[in-house]
Amino acid sequence: MAARRPVSLPKLAHPQAVTRRILRLLEAQHPGAFTELTFRNPYELLAATILSAQCTDERVNQVTPSLFARYPTPAALAKATPTSLESQIQPTGFFRVKSRSLVGMAQALVEHHDGAVPADLDALVRLPGVGRKTANVVLGHALGVPGLPVDRHVLRVANRLGIARSADPVVVERQLGAALPKARWTLASDTLILHGRRICKPRPLCDRCRARQQCLYVAEGGRPSPARDTQ
Ligand code: SF4
Repeated sequence: MAARRPVSLPKLAHPQAVTRRILRLLEAQHPGAFTELTFRNPYELLAATILSAQCTDERVNQVTPSLFARYPTPAALAKATPTSLESQIQPTGFFRVKSRSLVGMAQALVEHHDGAVPADLDALVRLPGVGRKTANVVLGHALGVPGLPVDRHVLRVANRLGIARSADPVVVERQLGAALPKARWTLASDTLILHGRRICKPRPLCDRCRARQQCLYVAEGGRPSPARDTQ
């Protein structure tokens, strides 16, 4: 089992009950929040999430249909060479690194997991190109295991609200995870991501935010802070 990073959790602005209330307000503002990546099975979501690094979901969704038509299974992708993928995934950026990650991921699935995507965080993060955020995306959306992905939007929004306090995604994941029942983790992450994309942008639209009365950023007069204003 992979060693867990020891982290100390700083004191938060809100008690956990307020965190749950804030999330309910935001869930009502963004009903049905879910990943915007298109996928039909865990393998496709894993590959799409690897491609989504530093790229919009919209652009990834333009690339993946032809990619999955050519490589419909991990076994098919495992036989490819990274260079043979490059032109196909070039629009997603960082295509050389991503090509190696995709082929390495598929080969590891075939070699160690009989070609299936494991429903286990520690096993997922051992796959090439798969970090904790990607693993949590796949667990929560395609494998029925609660996952709490923390991306730049979750990091920014949660810190501004005061429901987390750290620039470290692992710490923020643990702070939010401690405040919420496991069954709500994935929806909470999807909701915060959507809120960060639409409302709590780098320049936030606070007058359109249903959680503004509970927001630490607003209470403190919108003062910038490294933990709150990650892009
Ligand atoms: S009130 Fe403003 S800063 Fe606070 S969460 Fe809403 S949009 Fe973001």
